Amino acid sequence: MLESKLKTSRSYKNKDTIINVRDTKIGGSHFAFIAGPCAIENQDQYYTTAKSVISCGANIIRGSVFKPRTNPHSFQGLGRSGLKLIKDLSEDLDVVVETEVMDPRDVKITSKYVDILRVGTRNMQNYDLLKELSKINNPIILKRGMCATIDEWLQSAEYLMFNGNENIILCERGIRTFETELRNTLDLGVITILKSKTHLPIIIDPSHATGKRELVLPMSKASIVSGANGLMIEVHNCPNKALCDGKQSLTLDDFEHLSKKIKPLLDYENKTI
Ligand code: PEP
Ligand code: MN
Repeated sequence: MLESKLKTSRSYKNKDTIINVRDTKIGGSHFAFIAGPCAIENQDQYYTTAKSVISCGANIIRGSVFKPRTNPHSFQGLGRSGLKLIKDLSEDLDVVVETEVMDPRDVKITSKYVDILRVGTRNMQNYDLLKELSKINNPIILKRGMCATIDEWLQSAEYLMFNGNENIILCERGIRTFETELRNTLDLGVITILKSKTHLPIIIDPSHATGKRELVLPMSKASIVSGANGLMIEVHNCPNKALCDGKQSLTLDDFEHLSKKIKPLLDYENKTI
């Protein structure tokens, strides 16, 4: 297919896509500062973490209730019953919320409870899920498959845009390489490449990209100066008790520190949260 016919391409639409979700904008100079726990474990953990990151400037709260765990014995998430908790938090704290969806049968109900839906790395090429998501109008964060090329990633975004939804956010979260020191290898070069290929916003997840809390701040800084339109960062009120991804989760204090450190870089790049 001609690249100019692809809805994701710059030749189809030259201007940067700006996504409007409630009063929050994502794309162009509008920076998405997404933070929250990997998995929502209970009301106290979710609310405590969310309130703290909001006070540091986060404008979108992350948190999963459907968890794609490698080990079937690991915590699988609260499931559908957690969706109400997400909606309650979004109303109580007046904040935009996002969550992952894995099963096409959960798409409709999740779209009613949550502002932004996320496709995780393991499902970037789950075409039945992508087709179901193309029927809703909520913004969608599409994570890069851990073994996917840029073109495969963009074609998955094309599935999401098939029925006219233009509110797609691409998220780089690290890819599999021969290196084992870090959980994944963060491919920051994609920001510049994608800016030339697509009008869609691109955000970075330095938490899954590295798997290590100490790497989150340096990779966040690098992402901003590389032109990222946002960050998605895992934060937990007590990371050593986390049911998922504790080692890469920032403490509340770490996140406050990060939020201060990135401010001058955002100003330099003319990005506003
Ligand atoms: C997540 O963001 O909760 C997650 C599971 O990440 P990934 O799909 O990138 O592994
Ligand atoms: Mn996680």
